[in-house]
Amino acid sequence: MIFQEKLEQYAELAVKVGVNIQKGQYLLINTSTDALQFARIVVKKAYEAGAGRVHVQLTDSFMTRAFYEHGAKEEFSKYPKWIVAQRDELIEKKGALLWIDDEDPDLLAGIPVSRISANQKAGGAALVNYRKAVMNDDIAWSIIAVPSKKWAAKVFPNLSETEQVPALWEAIFKTVRIGEGSAVEKWQTHILQLDERAAKLNELKLAKLHYKAPGTDLTIELPEKHLWVSGSSRTPEGTIFTANMPTEEVFTLPSKYGVNGYVSNTKPLAYQGNIIDQFKLTFENGKIVKAEAEVGNELLQELITADENSRYLGEVALVPHESPISTSGILYYNTLFDENASNHLAIGEAYPTCYEGGRDLDERDFDSLGINKSITHEDFMIGSAEMDIDGIQPDGTTLAIFRNGNWAF
Ligand code: ZN
Ligand code: ZN
Repeated sequence: MIFQEKLEQYAELAVKVGVNIQKGQYLLINTSTDALQFARIVVKKAYEAGAGRVHVQLTDSFMTRAFYEHGAKEEFSKYPKWIVAQRDELIEKKGALLWIDDEDPDLLAGIPVSRISANQKAGGAALVNYRKAVMNDDIAWSIIAVPSKKWAAKVFPNLSETEQVPALWEAIFKTVRIGEGSAVEKWQTHILQLDERAAKLNELKLAKLHYKAPGTDLTIELPEKHLWVSGSSRTPEGTIFTANMPTEEVFTLPSKYGVNGYVSNTKPLAYQGNIIDQFKLTFENGKIVKAEAEVGNELLQELITADENSRYLGEVALVPHESPISTSGILYYNTLFDENASNHLAIGEAYPTCYEGGRDLDERDFDSLGINKSITHEDFMIGSAEMDIDGIQPDGTTLAIFRNGNWAF
C-alpha cells in the first residue's frame, strides 16, 4: 500500500472510528501547523462522512514557545475566554472533538516551571465544563497523533534526518492497524477483544489489586461499583467512539482513599513539553505522601500539587507487556503510545463512566464514593516484564491477574 493510501485510511479511521462523525454534526479539530497536510485530509473525510461544519484550531510550536519565553508573567495565570466559549458551544451543540497531536516532547524544555504550571492550572480551572463533558463522554472525542520533525528525531535519534519522519509514520500506522485490508473492520474486531477482557474482569468483582515488581509494591482498592471498560466509549445519544487511537488498555477507577504502598515508573513521561523520569511515588490511604524524580522533579511536584486532589489517583489500566506497541520496542515519548504499551495509572481525575451509573451521579457525592475529581488527569507507565498483579476478591480469594507482565488468565 502506498503512503498516500495509508494517510487516507488513517484520516478515515479518525473520522469514522475515532469521533464517529454523525450527519450534520460539528467537528472541532485541535492540531498544529506541522500536521496541516494531514489535517486537510481529515477535514475532507469529515465532510464526505456528513460533518456539518469543521473548524480547525491551529497552534504552532514556534509560537507556543514564543509565548512561554516572552509572554508577560501575569498572562500565565489567565486563560482566554474565547477558547472556553468555543469549547462550550461545541458541547452545547453536541459537536465532536478531535486532537491531532504531534508535540515535540521537549517543546518547553528550559522554560521556568512556574510559567508552565500557572498556565496549566489556569486552563484546568477555566475549562471545567469541557473537562466534565470529556470525562463523562457527553461528547464524542478522540486523540490521534502524527509525526512532527522534532518528535520523530526524539524517537529515532539514530536514523538520518530524512528517515526519521517516515519511520515514525510507519510505526504509527502499525499501532493503528493500517495496512492491507480494511482498518475500520480490524478495529471493530480489536475493540471486541478488549471488551471481552473487560467483561471477564467485571465478572471477577475484585476488591483489590496488588502490584509487585522491582521498585513497586502497591495495593489498590477498587470501589464495589467499579467497572472495567475498554477504549470504546458511548455518548448519551448512543454514538460509539474511540477516545484514543491506538488503544490497548482496559481500565477502571481506584478507590480514592484506598491506595497504599509505592510504585516506580518504567517509561519516561512526556508532560507539558518536558520529560519526567525515574520517579517513585509513595501512597498512604490514597494520597501521594512522597514523590521523587531523578529527571524533571520540579515539574512532578507541580503535577501532584495542581489542586488538592492531584495527589490521588483516578485510573487503573491494564496492558500486557506483550502488546503490539510494546513488542515493537519503540519508546515514543508520547503518552498516547507509551501508555498503550504498559500497565499504567493516572494521577488526578477519574472517569465517572468507570463507576456503575457514574454519569448520572451528583459530583458532590464523588468523594464519599471514592471517585477522584481534579483538574489533572495524567497517565504514567509502570508496567514491565517483571510485574505480577494479584486480584483479591471481597472474601479474600486471591487470583493471578498478571504474571511476568502478561495476562495470567
Ligand atoms: Zn489509560
Ligand atoms: Zn488516562
